[in-house]
Amino acid sequence: MARAAGLIGEEKKAGQKNLFDVAIIGAGYAGLSAALLFGRYLVSAVVFDGGRARNSMTRRVHGYPGLENSSPKALIGKMCADVAKYRSIIVVRSTVRAVKRRGRHFAVMTGALTFQARYVVIATGVQDIKPRIKNLEKFDDDGAWHCPYCDGLETAGRRLAVIVSGKNPLSFAKEFLGHRISRCFYASAG
Ligand SMILES: Cc1cc2nc3c(=O)[nH]c(=O)nc-3n(C[C@H](O)[C@H](O)[C@H](O)COP(=O)(O)OP(=O)(O)OC[C@H]3O[C@@H](n4cnc5c(N)ncnc54)[C@H](O)[C@@H]3O)c2cc1C
Repeated sequence: MARAAGLIGEEKKAGQKNLFDVAIIGAGYAGLSAALLFGRYLVSAVVFDGGRARNSMTRRVHGYPGLENSSPKALIGKMCADVAKYRSIIVVRSTVRAVKRRGRHFAVMTGALTFQARYVVIATGVQDIKPRIKNLEKFDDDGAWHCPYCDGLETAGRRLAVIVSGKNPLSFAKEFLGHRISRCFYASAG
């Protein structure tokens, strides 16, 4: 059933086929997971890949049994390759600009082309809002971490400054790092 027929990037071919059962917006972990199962159920789907997954700046992924310490790039690449083996799935490397209801279908529009789909799966993830600190991006995942669940262990035994905001910043910090906090200095920005 599965065959090596990855049409990744072949926007033109996808455009010619035009009508799909499902349009999946987002080719991160969620979108590709959905695509894989649609592929196995012979449901035709077009997946739109708008670029980088949320954790693409990190070096290693943690917490997926069997995939511990994989690089996000390698992991997404493998997932894409798996999905591309299913003949009913097409991956288009474009950002979706608009979705409109047109009768019984949805019109899903990239800059250049319009695709028709009966259903739309929105798997666009979330966008992290990082503090505006000069040069922060230089230390992303290399001295500055913003997901204690995923990367907290990398900070063990180090002196940490935890930058938090919201209604109850101290309890937020404790919730994630409590068992490792030996001394805590708190500074409020507002
Ligand atoms: C620093 C950091 C480290 C992390 N480490 C881990 C970890 O070790 N283990 C773990 O389990 N989780 C980790 N996470 C969480 C993990 O990254 C997310 O849970 C996961 O990426 C969510 O997958 P997703 O498919 O929902 O979204 P995403 O991975 O963000 O994928 C969404 C995709 O949709 C695309 N997209 C958005 N808009 C459009 C559009 N209009 N058209 C087309 N495409 C679009 C985006 O380009 C992106 O590729 C980490 C997160 C961060 C921030």
